[in-house]
Amino acid sequence: MMNTSTKIAIFGVGLIGGSLALCFKGKPNLTVVGYSHRSDVLERIKARDVVDYATLSIEEAAQDADFIFLCVPVGALEYYLKKLSSLKLKPGCIISDVGSTKSSIAACANTLTMTEAHFIGGHPMAGSERSGVEAATSLLFENAYYVLTPSKNATEEAYAKLEGLLQHTRSHIIRVQPQLHDEIVGAISHLPHIIAVALVNQVRGYHQKNDLYRLLAAGGFRDITRIASSDPVVWRDILLNNREVLLDLLADWTEEVQQFRDLLNRQDGDGIEAAFKRAGEFRSELPERRKGAIQPLFDLYIDVPDHPGIIGQITTELGAHQVNLSNIQIIESREDVPGLMRLSFRNEQEMERAKAPLQALGYMVYV
Ligand code: NAP
Repeated sequence: MMNTSTKIAIFGVGLIGGSLALCFKGKPNLTVVGYSHRSDVLERIKARDVVDYATLSIEEAAQDADFIFLCVPVGALEYYLKKLSSLKLKPGCIISDVGSTKSSIAACANTLTMTEAHFIGGHPMAGSERSGVEAATSLLFENAYYVLTPSKNATEEAYAKLEGLLQHTRSHIIRVQPQLHDEIVGAISHLPHIIAVALVNQVRGYHQKNDLYRLLAAGGFRDITRIASSDPVVWRDILLNNREVLLDLLADWTEEVQQFRDLLNRQDGDGIEAAFKRAGEFRSELPERRKGAIQPLFDLYIDVPDHPGIIGQITTELGAHQVNLSNIQIIESREDVPGLMRLSFRNEQEMERAKAPLQALGYMVYV
């Protein structure tokens, strides 16, 4: 009997690769194979049960595959794409990647002769600060934008096939030119990561002269610089890969900073107000809480009195309403003032469902 199953190979089964695998595994006529370069990772992939089978062999993973997703760090993408172009792939095989930058991999694909295969770059714009297969979830891409950047050799038929398969991720597929993708993502994600790291390191420098900096930086400063704690290796690769775009963006950023210096030098209060107003207006037009290049927070804050058993009461109540809490933190709690508790949720629905039970217990709930 002829085997009609569609074979999907995932190279690099970490957070993103593992999450894609979970979207496909168990669906009718789909078989998912995971490739890893290390045997200990292979064991973790098997333990997490995200693929139908896992292998250390590139050839075995690629052989007869209908789709190949490269989900390795940006710096390793070209190696695998070149390697695949030298193998005998199944005619019509569609190769895609999930890298956070798109121009360089698109340029690489355009130089390769892939007579039988199509390369269509991809970037699912959802993620997390966590990494590894243990953090994978089939819900990761739900409602997120998933950018596709077809290369010269990709046919419309191949694009439609990939788009069809990616329906399993329940994301919104959007077609964007690679260079435009890198410019936009550079501005809304890569530049903010640089600024967050620079800001934290600036304050770290002050802190080395005075301990009070770290103490008082709890709360708001910690929140707005959350992305400074992202994986250094992943971000090294992304920033170097998008270097040209980022150098232009940093020139614009320097210009923005200079404008603030001028406003302060001139003691121009109206100018400062106008800058805040312009920013506030544009910010209020941004879509709310959709998943994006930077993972949004789904946090609620409640005032809590400092007395024993409060955490137990809240977690029991949320548990009774089957609301999944992903983190809980007391931001400040002293005997004389109520503490502020932060409750974190994995998604917006869970966060919304938590509000009513907390209010019914008499808590003031803030978003
Ligand atoms: P991850 O959780 O660390 O997963 C990467 C996987 O690739 C790991 O299993 C890793 O194994 C493996 N790997 C690393 N170097 C390799 C190599 N040379 N050959 C084969 N496998 C290798 O990282 P991730 O967050 O899923 O990121 C993967 C890709 O997704 C990156 O290109 C990133 O730009 C992109 N992306 C990330 C996000 C995000 O928020 N995280 C969002 C969108 C796109 P080891 O444990 O052995 O290193």
